[in-house]
Amino acid sequence: MVDVTIIGAGIFGLSVAYAAASRGAKVRVVETERVGAGSSGGLVGALAPHTPERWDAKNEFQYQSLLMAEAHWRKVDQLSGISSGYGRIGRLHPIPTARVLELSHERTAYAHEVWQGNAEWRVVERANYGAWAPESPTGFLVHDTMSARMQPRGAAASLAGAVVAQGGEIVIGDAPVEGKVVWATGHRGLLELSKEFGVEIGNGVKGQSALLRYDAGDVPQLFSDGIYVVPHTDGTVAVGSTSERYFDDPLAVDGLLDEVLERTFAAFPVLQGAEVLDRWAGVRPRGKKLAPMLGAYPGRDGHFIANGGFKIGFGMAPKVGEVMAELVLDDNATGIPDDFTVEANM
Ligand SMILES: Cc1cc2nc3c(=O)[nH]c(=O)nc-3n(C[C@H](O)[C@H](O)[C@H](O)COP(=O)(O)OP(=O)(O)OC[C@H]3O[C@@H](n4cnc5c(N)ncnc54)[C@H](O)[C@@H]3O)c2cc1C
Repeated sequence: MVDVTIIGAGIFGLSVAYAAASRGAKVRVVETERVGAGSSGGLVGALAPHTPERWDAKNEFQYQSLLMAEAHWRKVDQLSGISSGYGRIGRLHPIPTARVLELSHERTAYAHEVWQGNAEWRVVERANYGAWAPESPTGFLVHDTMSARMQPRGAAASLAGAVVAQGGEIVIGDAPVEGKVVWATGHRGLLELSKEFGVEIGNGVKGQSALLRYDAGDVPQLFSDGIYVVPHTDGTVAVGSTSERYFDDPLAVDGLLDEVLERTFAAFPVLQGAEVLDRWAGVRPRGKKLAPMLGAYPGRDGHFIANGGFKIGFGMAPKVGEVMAELVLDDNATGIPDDFTVEANM
């Protein structure tokens, strides 16, 4: 008999399945298409913290998840024998004006307080970082040492392997839905839930990204002009993404991605000439509260929802798995901020 059936094999569903299986539950993941068929099957994989001022429950949740990530992915990769591509490589981004430079120094102090020595928000001289660093009008950059990266497809495959290694099942297609049920159905699920509840609780924001052949080595990820540049371990660099609230074809790559690539090559000259290996589009599940939507499924006893990862789902996933497993298996919701509940999004 299965204790928990998880619908959806994206990063949220797999993380819940992994955490529940780690606690000894018998889990079954049911997915219509394939592991990582939704927005979790992309290219970028930046795990970056919120800026350290105006701290709230969401920032704290994200911080704790990012702190958990290193040990989490090491264990998952060990169990599966597959690499998630995780690495805590930090992040560099330019400081465009004197005012932002001042603010950046203030953030150094905020980070000292809320990150409790586990990471730093450093203001550094660009000149010390060589060709990889982005240009910065002030000559200074922020180097945060909290940010990390993972390879989304590798991470999903690794989690699926770790679920199976702990006695769980991953079923592609139809399978009996038994025990407690967790709906982790991403963007598609948010649209269906909105229809069911008669109120928009979330929607989707399309994103397009690309993969370049470029062996950056052991360097931080970059962020500038709204573009992430994420070096992976396999001699590639992912760049992205567009943010499209309105779209016809959720999976089409088009001229908007070409624009992102043009801006990338302008902002990061070191990447000019790199071959484009892959182009990919997906739809981010965006809850009304712009935060994960975690909790009991209103009106359905024994059913739960894990959705709303939006732009930070990969970074949030380890902690989402933990708190959902506590809720589903132990009826303990203390780890879930009030703003994250399904009702808060209605
Ligand atoms: C271009 C782009 C770049 C991004 N970059 C980052 C980044 O750098 N860092 C970051 O943290 N986040 C990033 N994100 C966001 C991240 O991808 C999402 O937050 C995350 O993937 C959401 O995971 P999920 O499991 O909730 O949804 P999904 O990955 O969409 O998974 C849902 C799954 O449920 C399945 N499903 C749906 N309905 C059913 C059903 N009825 N029965 C069975 N299966 C069903 C789908 O097929 C799918 O596999 C990015 C997103 C995009 C689009």
